Amino acid sequence: MLDCAIIGGGPAGMTAGLYATRGGLKNVVMFELGMPGGQITQSSEIENYPGFFEHGKTGMDFMNTWQEQTFHFGLKHEMKKVERVAKSGEHFVVTLEGGESIEAMSVIVATGSTPKRANFKGEDEFFGKGVSTCATCDGFFYKNKPVTILGGGDTALEEALYLSNICSDVYVVHRRDAFRAAPPTLERVMKKTNIHLITDSIIEEAYGGMMGLDGVKIKNIKTGEITDMPNTGLFVFVGHDVNNSVLKDADGTFICAVNDWGQVIVDLSMKTNVEGLFAAGDIRIEAPKQVVCAASDGATAALQVIAYIQERS
Ligand code: FAD
Ligand code: NAP
Repeated sequence: MLDCAIIGGGPAGMTAGLYATRGGLKNVVMFELGMPGGQITQSSEIENYPGFFEHGKTGMDFMNTWQEQTFHFGLKHEMKKVERVAKSGEHFVVTLEGGESIEAMSVIVATGSTPKRANFKGEDEFFGKGVSTCATCDGFFYKNKPVTILGGGDTALEEALYLSNICSDVYVVHRRDAFRAAPPTLERVMKKTNIHLITDSIIEEAYGGMMGLDGVKIKNIKTGEITDMPNTGLFVFVGHDVNNSVLKDADGTFICAVNDWGQVIVDLSMKTNVEGLFAAGDIRIEAPKQVVCAASDGATAALQVIAYIQERS
């Protein structure tokens, strides 16, 4: 029986593993379907993690430094996808792809979330090289420069407000003429003189070269007119998929409380409403979707797990 099964090897999962093993737990396994590192490994540069300020270092370089430290204290890593977590009496059963089952006293779910793609030409090619899904992460790279946003929901408009304080102009491209975002947010956006709403329009293409994105072509879907927007960063905010499938029972119901968007409801100690089950990082409610916050969640969850195991031994 594992003391703790950690699901996901991004910043939250790796930090949970570091704290759990360094804090004395002997039998902790981190299940990660690929190489550890998480979404940040897709980033071409990270400059908002305190203590790491090296220009030209990618998210992959950044996460490589985490691995040696994380595994030093005895965390075991299994490169396996978890299919499901179920509670069975006092403990948990973690089912892996292929059907193998492992029992654990406690579980930290840190499977993150995945920003949705809009599927326009050049989106994948320039993702992390001018096409971004994170204004907090990448907005500063466009200080006093124009940026384009795709989307018409709360995230798109809230991030437009955030970027309008950093960038010279923010062009919000939305496929309809009515916005899904809350009316008060839209009102605030409309008061900003440097935010420009481009409705009934889509991104036809993101283009560039070896150095990254050079600009975007915007298509009005009513008139067919194409507008070239050179020298712009592009932020895509068309929703998120929360990676919560491991928390679903065979009948599709969740084993713990989640909100309307499938984010796991936790308290300030990352406890879910199921004893012994914790959630950390981008998967949880109100997640700021930042590496430093995911790492903090992982540490918090692991400290709670140590106390939970001690109470039961
Ligand atoms: P993730 O990093 O998403 O890690 C979850 C892990 O779980 C993944 O490795 C995944 O493979 C694994 N997993 C999922 N399902 C399963 C399963 N069923 N079984 C096993 N493993 C599973 N943040 C910043 O602070 N600064 C930045 O500059 C910045 N830039 C970014 C740039 C890009 C391009 C992206 C995409 C994100 C950026 N972020 C940045 C956000 C940051 O990467 C995330 O907030 C952070 O990685 C979340 O950590 P996490 O551990 O919660 O989840
Ligand atoms: P969302 O509400 O699903 O909005 C996604 C937006 O992207 C929509 O405007 C949608 O257009 C557009 N879109 C989707 N796919 C597209 C594509 N392929 N090409 C072009 N445009 C596309 O996502 P979200 O804004 O991330 O919000 C998710 C949830 O979190 C929402 O329920 C939201 O209310 C909530 N949220 C709340 C707050 C808050 O309360 N402060 C803040 C952020 C998010 P259509 O409108 O035409 O569908």
